[in-house]
Amino acid sequence: MDLFEYQARDLFEKHGVPVLAAEVVTDAADAGPAAERVGAGSGGVVVVKAQVKVGGRGKAGGVKLARSPQEAVEAAEQILGMDIKGHTVGAVMIAQGAKIAEEYYFSLLLDRTNRSLLAMCSKEGGVDIETLAEERPEALARVSVDARTGIDDATARHILEQAGFDTADVDAIAPALVRLWDVYQGEDATLVEVNPMVKTEDGQVLALDGKVTLDDNADFRHEDHAALADTAAADPLEAKAKEMGLNYVKLDGNVGIIGNGAGLVMSTLDVVAYAGEEHTGGRAKPANFLDIGGGASAEVMSNGLDVILNDDQVRSVFVNVFGGITACDAVATGIVSALEILGDEATKPLVVRLDGNNVEEGRAILARADHPLVTIEDTMDGAARRAAELAAN
Ligand code: GDP
Ligand code: MN
Repeated sequence: MDLFEYQARDLFEKHGVPVLAAEVVTDAADAGPAAERVGAGSGGVVVVKAQVKVGGRGKAGGVKLARSPQEAVEAAEQILGMDIKGHTVGAVMIAQGAKIAEEYYFSLLLDRTNRSLLAMCSKEGGVDIETLAEERPEALARVSVDARTGIDDATARHILEQAGFDTADVDAIAPALVRLWDVYQGEDATLVEVNPMVKTEDGQVLALDGKVTLDDNADFRHEDHAALADTAAADPLEAKAKEMGLNYVKLDGNVGIIGNGAGLVMSTLDVVAYAGEEHTGGRAKPANFLDIGGGASAEVMSNGLDVILNDDQVRSVFVNVFGGITACDAVATGIVSALEILGDEATKPLVVRLDGNNVEEGRAILARADHPLVTIEDTMDGAARRAAELAAN
């Protein structure tokens, strides 16, 4: 889960990373009083910042300096509702203004390729870091970080030295890096980025803009993380599936897909995409990823079908199951009872391909039920073609 800047800022504060006072408002009228409170420590100067989960807000006009509460209201009026790269601004952060002397870059992320963590650091922050990495790679230090030791004082100093900071700056910035490690580890993040990290005219080091991605797999360790989810932006079908505990990802095709096992579902998406190109001229494409897992009970099958059938784009459904621990007869019984549970709500054709454990019994159960919406296919390719044709015609 990607966080908004203000949420990242709050986590920074919680872990002792130096940040400035800030408040979030969704109504421009509230920007005035917020600016009065927040700007008290900076001669009334505040920065009004669009809260969208996309970079480059500054260039897009989503970051504005205001010298009075009145100016803050005007800036908030301009920024709220603005479209930044397809994201509508619904909230702005009113942050205390800083007198910036220098802007730096720091990030720590999961480096899957090297099975390690990677810290990146530069004395030239505030800019688009992808551009810097491409045009002047020598200005961006990359230091591999061992997840077991993380960033202690020595590692922090090493990273900063690699980035070319002098001793005085290393002394000043190292504690902030150690605190940022605390954010990364303590919150189970996969990315912590600060751009810019700044030195102010009076020598203070501050994290002025933060980006944090949390590892959803660790949600069970963080009860407080649920509150960070942006429920307004979530896809309603994905939200419903999540509530039911289903591994569902909405895509924009018209062939609904249910399978057991992530690998099987991934290959089902490929096979359907291929069949759609080959047999329908590209008019059929996968509508979703849905893995109902090993123990596909009737209830899970029915919940899965319920989510998929409620997708208006779906024209046909491909149920692709390989019987393992849960054998095909149990799955077939699940499909039949799911259709009973759904009753009139089930209105789209289902193509079912079963294989593996107890496949004959499974097919026999479906044949006996003889549901008008259900077609049985023997092979994955045949079923994909059938589902694609049903969706396209
Ligand atoms: P981004 O464009 O989405 O990355 O937004 P940032 O929060 O990084 O802001 C962009 C730029 O605005 C920064 O690099 C700074 O140059 C400037 N900026 C942000 N906050 C302040 C501030 O408090 N004072 C001053 N003078 N400039 C700021
Ligand atoms: Mn930034």
